[in-house]
Amino acid sequence: MKNLNIVKDFGALVLFALLLSCNNQTQPEEIVNNPPIFPKGQKGPDKFFTGNAYNYRLVPIDSTYTTLVGNVYFEPGARSNWHTHPAGQILIITDGVGYHQIEGGSIQIMKKGDVITCPPNVRHWHGASPDRELQQLYIVPNSEKGIVNWMEPVTDEQYKNFQS
Ligand code: MN
Repeated sequence: MKNLNIVKDFGALVLFALLLSCNNQTQPEEIVNNPPIFPKGQKGPDKFFTGNAYNYRLVPIDSTYTTLVGNVYFEPGARSNWHTHPAGQILIITDGVGYHQIEGGSIQIMKKGDVITCPPNVRHWHGASPDRELQQLYIVPNSEKGIVNWMEPVTDEQYKNFQS
């Protein structure tokens, strides 16, 4: 009977689909690194960054706003050197997962929607987590006071010292 075969075939198809969906549930969660929201921009120089970090300026330094605004896209594992900002800095996380550390404190996790302030002249670094990219807007106010003073790289030992 032809009709019975169609029913049998349909049944096999449903069973196959169920097996596939069950199999999917046992897969580990896939890590997804999202594409850049803003243009990726220029790769940060190796003397200031470990790994691949891309800077794209959104609001240039000028005498009207005296505020520098830009975006950094850190690939997984990438981070800045230790540094300070003479007038401080505000970070707004737009995607991904990152690390931020003020010297003497523990590494803090940064996620989409977080707003982080770095006080003036405080040594710190920021970057991506080992498995996820970080997308962050940076705002440097009172840019006439200076933007950034670069220092030594964050070592692998310092970077891996994250305590969850
Ligand atoms: Mn900073």
